[in-house]
Amino acid sequence: MKDGHGRVIDYLRISLTDRCNFRCIYCMPADGVCMMGHDEILRIEEIEAITRVATSIGIRSVRLTGGEPLVRKGVVDLVRALHKMEGIDNISLTTNGVLLPEMAGDLKEAGLSRVNISLDTLDPAQFEFITRVGKIESTLKGIDAALAAGFNPVKINAVTVRSLKQDYLAFAKLSIDQPLHVRFIEYMPVGESTGSDGSGWGKEDVVPSEELIEIINERAAAEGMPALEPIDGDGKPIGWGPARYFQFPGAQGTVGFISPLSRHFCSECNRLRLTADGKLRPCLFSDRELDIRAALREGGEEAVYDCFLQALDLKPDEHHDKVGTERKMSQIGG
Ligand code: SAM
Ligand code: SF4
Repeated sequence: MKDGHGRVIDYLRISLTDRCNFRCIYCMPADGVCMMGHDEILRIEEIEAITRVATSIGIRSVRLTGGEPLVRKGVVDLVRALHKMEGIDNISLTTNGVLLPEMAGDLKEAGLSRVNISLDTLDPAQFEFITRVGKIESTLKGIDAALAAGFNPVKINAVTVRSLKQDYLAFAKLSIDQPLHVRFIEYMPVGESTGSDGSGWGKEDVVPSEELIEIINERAAAEGMPALEPIDGDGKPIGWGPARYFQFPGAQGTVGFISPLSRHFCSECNRLRLTADGKLRPCLFSDRELDIRAALREGGEEAVYDCFLQALDLKPDEHHDKVGTERKMSQIGG
């Protein structure tokens, strides 16, 4: 179905929980967010019911996210149910990877199509600084587990924050010897995200993708490496979304750039978001939400359908560079 601005909406991001085993500085405060109560969180069967209705407005792909989706009990069963659901062609997951060593095989067997793993640095000390409580080995083991379970593509998402001074080239090189698709994401003004210096999101911390591509190519040249080459043919990974993809010549994987700020893709936006507490959110950057949990609990599937229609209608044409949202990324579902 199309929204009020003629865009086909076929993708639903489903947040399974606001809880997480990390406390990333740009996503959550150090002491975590005020956790949602049990009754506030959608039950697994409620998520299934809402998704079933979503297929009737044309949703074909879903992504499970959070918080950390793998800490949610019942996630494998949910994947299995979604895999069997008529109308759903693709089920993907965004995770910090920590629980993949024990879950990747079951998730694959249940029908999960694709995995994105978040990792912002290859430096162990910096990893601890960013995640506040994490160890880099746990996420690296998660990446290995995803590859070993046969997921393809495996995408690695890295948020770039200028003051963190991440080593972008080291990161891009991950795509050379393994079929890994590294994607750099511009730091977004969601919630009162706390920057590396504790002062909150600031425009100066955003590294625009064009600048990042130049930095990577300059550093590659300094090491005698060839530059990144744009991909516009069949070499792009499945799940081609709002990223622009490049590749080092001969590399197994790719390097993508997602530019929600410097080159926003609002005109191609195809998504709606369902929060863990059952709010339907037409746009990441807008605090406008519809209470689909109440609709389901009080009015049943017909009321849920109406909620989806309203969300299509309410989707803004673009985010107009709005800075800040009431909820943090971990509460919306990144
Ligand atoms: N816990 C899972 C993970 O980290 O992959 C899933 C949820 S997390 C909120 C989803 C994605 O949002 C992660 O890749 C994370 O890096 C990204 N993210 C969180 N806060 C962000 C921000 N302010 N700007 C850009 N990306 C952000
Ligand atoms: Fe947790 Fe993911 Fe947010 Fe990090 S980015 S705190 S792993 S939800």
